[in-house]
Amino acid sequence: MGGALSYLADQLAELEAQGMRLRIRTLQAEQRARTRYDGRDVINLASNNYLGLAAHPEVKEAAARAAREFGAGSGAVRTIAGTMTLHEELERRFAAFKGAEAALMFPSGFAANAGTVAAILTRDDVIVSDELNHASIIDGARLSRAEIRVFPHRDVEAADRLLAESEGKARKLLITDGVFSMDGDVAPLPALVEVAERRGAIMMVDDAHGSGVLGPGGKGTVAHFGIDPSRVDVQVGTLSKAVGVLGGFIAGPPHLIEWLKNRGRPFLFSTSAPPAVVAACLAALDVMEREPERIERLWSNTRFFKEGLHALGFDTGASETPITPVIAGEERKAQELSAGLWEEGVFTPAVVYPTVPRGKARVRTIVTADHTEDDLAQALEAFERVGRKLGLI
Ligand code: PMP
Repeated sequence: MGGALSYLADQLAELEAQGMRLRIRTLQAEQRARTRYDGRDVINLASNNYLGLAAHPEVKEAAARAAREFGAGSGAVRTIAGTMTLHEELERRFAAFKGAEAALMFPSGFAANAGTVAAILTRDDVIVSDELNHASIIDGARLSRAEIRVFPHRDVEAADRLLAESEGKARKLLITDGVFSMDGDVAPLPALVEVAERRGAIMMVDDAHGSGVLGPGGKGTVAHFGIDPSRVDVQVGTLSKAVGVLGGFIAGPPHLIEWLKNRGRPFLFSTSAPPAVVAACLAALDVMEREPERIERLWSNTRFFKEGLHALGFDTGASETPITPVIAGEERKAQELSAGLWEEGVFTPAVVYPTVPRGKARVRTIVTADHTEDDLAQALEAFERVGRKLGLI
């Protein structure tokens, strides 16, 4: 061993010692509420497959049909030779879904966030960002070279103050997640939109976990609050969570979309999504619209599971959505909770620093429309046994 990269082995040992080294489990069947990871049949509380669409027969069939008809790959980036009718159809669908004039598909939600923030701002500008915003926003902000000012989580007054202090900047961006991915709480969007309007800032919302989950028809956090979508300049969505497939989206006015076609680097320099992916997304949107009961089931499952955890006495933070953290405290404690549940046949991964602050380590549970009440009751029994053993309840 040795070599120029040996410091990485030392750093990994350090992570291991602190209980912060990630352990990746391998899925050996379809992404479902009950499935198989690492040779073990489990109740799955770990996926973002909110509506159970990832393995829906109609969605799978649409993917297979598109692969047969249009091939396995697109063969080029969108701007050269890789734009297919399917991509344009999905973009029209997504714009309508978000109540926006236009939309653009990116390779992932990560690429949509990072590519857009980096493309619309420069070093003369300022980004005012919630401290718990997703990593892709943070990376995009760094790439833009704009000044980055972070406000305490959900603190509208602080956001307002930071914008007021930035009057000299050419442009200002106020940016927040709609639903926060590690806590499951919701941004105070009506107040943030007002602040952005008052301060002349661009308003951008990353609704990766709100789309398909919140609001009428799953239209997202903006619709949940009844905000006119034209008041949010940039809406971000992902196709990898509730839609169940893969890809990211930006929805907004036509000049934004046209600018991103010219300057959004992940759009310009990454090969477009394969036909199967795009067709599967279209089919998933069809199912979502046709079967609103999926969203209702997601929420009745959410209420049942949250109430169960509360009744047992667990600390679930400020969650208001199907994402429910069960906070254990120290890194090791969260790892032990996750491991104990795994032994009981419940898969819910530990989330530790630096993804969440030190001392706030947790397991993160996500229920889906695919779970039955029986699945969730069984998971709660496992939580009770392991939680008592670890002294968490
Ligand atoms: N934003 C948030 C808030 C997310 O949780 C995620 C997913 N981890 C993303 C963006 C990125 O989406 P994708 O997985 O499609 O890259």
